[in-house]
Amino acid sequence: MILLDGKKLRDELLIEYKERIEKEKIKASLAVILIGNNEASKIYVHNKEIYCKKVGIDFKLYLLDENVLEKDVISLINKLNNDSLITGIILQSPVPNHINFDYCSSLINPLKDVDGFTKDNIYNLYLNKETLMPCTVKAIITLLKHYNIVLDGAHVLIIGRGNIVGHPLSLALLNENATVTIAHSHTKNLPELCLKADIIISATGKVNLITKDMVKDGATVVDVGITRENGHIKGDVDIEGVKEKCAFITPNPGGVGPMTVAMIIDNTLKAYALQRKEDING
Ligand code: NAD
Repeated sequence: MILLDGKKLRDELLIEYKERIEKEKIKASLAVILIGNNEASKIYVHNKEIYCKKVGIDFKLYLLDENVLEKDVISLINKLNNDSLITGIILQSPVPNHINFDYCSSLINPLKDVDGFTKDNIYNLYLNKETLMPCTVKAIITLLKHYNIVLDGAHVLIIGRGNIVGHPLSLALLNENATVTIAHSHTKNLPELCLKADIIISATGKVNLITKDMVKDGATVVDVGITRENGHIKGDVDIEGVKEKCAFITPNPGGVGPMTVAMIIDNTLKAYALQRKEDING
């Protein structure tokens, strides 16, 4: 059994990004809008800042009060869209209930949309065209490819159809010529589907949903789930049990999470490149 070590690959990629930024004199900058006091969001945003600074990307935090009006969030997004010194924008989720996240994030200039959530970027993913792909989706695919796990023709079972992971991941894997099955909370025969899959990717947030008896010998298992219980992070997969059956498995933490951070940097650099291409063409 081989561990799909997301931490190790993240660190290798960060060195590559840093070297590229220095060599090509890249002047990228990431603006993150954080609304309110969600503790988990603060940790995620702090991590983004640390890794941006590590590689040489300018990081700007826009911390807005819990009670900020939606129109003020929209004006800030418009201002950042029009600021040529800002090359990437993230609206950190979740936002307070009175702010419509889907609407506000849809206003981000698609060329600055580091999270890959705007309609243009999702439509490009749907059409299999060049796009800024959602970071966790890109993280999973980059990790699997790094370990030479063949996606072409593989039967991949995605568990979870959320907008951030499961749903866009199904499009990205179809683009890689995988045979994709999607399971979700209404699926009736999950163990049976799991036993048929070459690759199982679970993104539900249900602790220990996937157990040893559900995995075929030699399968690959990717655990995306993050559930905080008593100060510990728990995944969707009973990793200790499943390890005995599979050929490859992500540790959790230490698998998809660190790779997602790396892909935020990757998308920030891609956004910068796409904007320059647009400048040159236009
Ligand atoms: P979501 O709530 O949008 O989606 C969860 C999905 O799980 C739903 O489609 C639901 O139908 C499915 N589901 C729930 N119970 C199920 C069950 N018993 N059987 C089958 N399917 C079931 O969540 P999301 O935003 O897609 O995130 C999913 C998980 O991935 C969460 O734990 C989240 O914290 C984690 N996550 C991790 C990263 C990372 O970088 N590692 C990034 C994003 C999300």
